[in-house]
Amino acid sequence: MLRCDVAVIGTGGVGSAAVAHLAQAGASVIGLDRYSPPHIHGSSHGQTRVIRMAYFEHPDYVPLLHQAYRGWSDLQQATGRSLYFPTGVLQIGPEAGEVIAGTLRSAQEHHLAIQRIAYDEITDVFPGVVAPEDCVGILERDAGYLLVSECIQAYLEQAKRHGANIKTDSPVQSWTRIGQTFELRTASEVIHAGQLIICGGAWASQLLADLKVPMTILRKHLYWYANDASAYTSQAQFPVFLIETPTGIYYGFPQIEHGVKLSRHDGGEPIASAAQQNQNEDPADRRALEAFAAGHLPLLSKNLLHREACMYTVTPDQHFLVGTHPEHDGLHFAAGLSGHGFKFASALGEILCDLAMTGQTSSPIEFLSPRRFS
Ligand SMILES: Cc1cc2nc3c(=O)[nH]c(=O)nc-3n(C[C@H](O)[C@H](O)[C@H](O)COP(=O)(O)OP(=O)(O)OC[C@H]3O[C@@H](n4cnc5c(N)ncnc54)[C@H](O)[C@@H]3O)c2cc1C
Repeated sequence: MLRCDVAVIGTGGVGSAAVAHLAQAGASVIGLDRYSPPHIHGSSHGQTRVIRMAYFEHPDYVPLLHQAYRGWSDLQQATGRSLYFPTGVLQIGPEAGEVIAGTLRSAQEHHLAIQRIAYDEITDVFPGVVAPEDCVGILERDAGYLLVSECIQAYLEQAKRHGANIKTDSPVQSWTRIGQTFELRTASEVIHAGQLIICGGAWASQLLADLKVPMTILRKHLYWYANDASAYTSQAQFPVFLIETPTGIYYGFPQIEHGVKLSRHDGGEPIASAAQQNQNEDPADRRALEAFAAGHLPLLSKNLLHREACMYTVTPDQHFLVGTHPEHDGLHFAAGLSGHGFKFASALGEILCDLAMTGQTSSPIEFLSPRRFS
C-alpha cells in the first residue's frame, strides 16, 4: 500500500497544475491519471486555448484571471517554455448580446483596458474579418492563447522535479473515506491519502456523484483550415477572435504551424458519459462552421487540414464547481468547467493546493461553490 499527504485524481489541465503546486509546497503527492497526459481523450487537447481578462461569462472571474495570468507567467519563467502568446483577442457581436455586453460589464467593473472598434471599421483594421451586421468589436490587447499540451507538460515536469509521484495509465476505480484517510483503488494498487483532490474533467460526474450537481458532457469539434492567403497569422497582426452571430458563437486562432483553428462555442452533441467519446466527424457541425467561415472569414481557404473532437463538461448555469466537498472536509475539487476552464488551470491548481495544505484559500471562489444548487 502507498501513502501520501495528497492524492490527485486526474492530471490533465487542472490536475497537472495542482500536483505541481503541491509538490512545490513540500507535500508528498501522488497524481493518478487513466491515460498519460497530455492526451486526446479528455478536454485539454487541440493545440490552443483562449485566455482573456474582460470576461463576458461573469465579472467575478476577473480576480481569478489575475491569479491565472500570474500563474502562467511564473510557469513560463520556471520552465523557460513559451506558453502564453499575447496576440490580443477581438470579440464581435451585437452591443446588447451575451459577448459584448458581458465583456463591457467586466471591463467596466474591473477597470480593464479594452478598445472599441465600430462596425464599419472592423474590416479596415482586420481585412480577413467581415462582422455580422449591426455588430461592434472589442479588442483586448493583453489576451491571446495558451499552448494547451505544453502547459500540461510544463506543470508535470515541475511536479516531478519537486518529487511528485505521477502514475499514468492508472484509472482510479474507487475512492472511499475511512476515518480521516481517503482510500483509492486502482487495478494494481491501494493508496491512502490524508487529502484528496479530484480534477476528473468529463469523468467528474462519476467521481463526484454525491455532489448531486448534474453535468452535461458535450462533444465539441475543432477544425484547422489552410491559410493560403496568409491573412490569418499573428505576423499579419491577426488576433484570436470570437464572433457572436445569429446562428452561434464561433471563435478561432491565428495560424500556428499548420492551419487556422476554428470552432463553435455554443451547441455541441450531448453524450451520456466520457466513455462514449470518439473522434467521429459531425457533418452538421462542420456545415454550420463552414457557413460561418464563408460569411465572416472570406480570405480563409475551404481546404480542411485536420479535425479533432473534445469534450465540454457543463453545469446547469455554465459556471465552475470549485471548493471543498460539503460532506468530506479533506476532499477538494475543480469540476464542471463548462468549456471555459483551461485558462484558469494555473489559478485552480494553486487554489486546490491551498485548500489541501491549509483548509482555506484567499482566492474568491465562493461564487463557484456547489452550494448554489442546493
Ligand atoms: C473544444 C474545446 C475548446 C475549449 N476552448 C477553451 C478555451 O479557449 N479557453 C479555455 O479557457 N477553456 C477552453 N476549453 C475548456 C478547457 O479546455 C477545459 O475546461 C479544461 O481543459 C478541463 O480541464 P480538466 O483538468 O477539468 O479536464 P482534463 O484535462 O480532461 O483532465 C481530466 C483528467 O482526469 C483523468 N481521469 C478521469 N477519470 C479518472 C480516473 N477515474 N482515474 C484517473 N484519472 C482520471 C482523465 O484521464 C484526464 O486526464 C475548451 C474545451 C474544449 C473541449
